[in-house]
Amino acid sequence: MNDEKGILFILSGPSGVGKGTVRKKIFEQATDLKYSISMTTRSKRPGEIDGVDYFYKTREEFEKLIEQNKLLEYAQYVNNYYGTPRDYVEDTLEAGHDVFLEIEVQGAMQVKESFPEGVFIFLFPPSLEELKNRITSRGTESNELVLNRLKEARKEIEMMDSYDYVVVNDHVDLAVAKIQSIIQSEHCKRERI
Ligand code: 5GP
Repeated sequence: MNDEKGILFILSGPSGVGKGTVRKKIFEQATDLKYSISMTTRSKRPGEIDGVDYFYKTREEFEKLIEQNKLLEYAQYVNNYYGTPRDYVEDTLEAGHDVFLEIEVQGAMQVKESFPEGVFIFLFPPSLEELKNRITSRGTESNELVLNRLKEARKEIEMMDSYDYVVVNDHVDLAVAKIQSIIQSEHCKRERI
């Protein structure tokens, strides 16, 4: 089935739900998925590496990418831009590899317009209280940022119905296993001789 295009998987959900942790665990295990590294204007957190966690850009550089239509989607999130490089995603799918995006909800909805055949997975917090704890305990951000992230999270949860799958992230390993089953099922769905 090598002449087939890859499948685009989009993991999304509110900030603080654990998308980053779940995504990293998926990629720690052997996988044929290709992770699309996003562009962002936010500053690097301790331990993050340019070209591994994100491609860090200035606002000017990012706005140029928007102008040149180089982004498959982008969103302004808590005063920073985040976006997915279009060429990487399209070329990788064309070459027959699955691509995995981990993005916030506004961006996921834009991807749905250009890739309605993508597989949209919503990672759901066990509860809003738990989400608040997770956002607060990250500890790297000011109170104002934390409040903005919570406000954003409430809005994002309302978008859940537009997704193909909802995975509750009460246990990371379980959430990872469910996402891996989704990936396998989607391949079985498309399996034709
Ligand atoms: P963080 O600043 O915590 O790394 O990410 C903030 C939010 O931006 C998270 O919800 C993350 O999933 C999302 N995000 C990361 N990359 C992208 C992207 O390329 N596009 C969009 N729309 N959101 C992204």
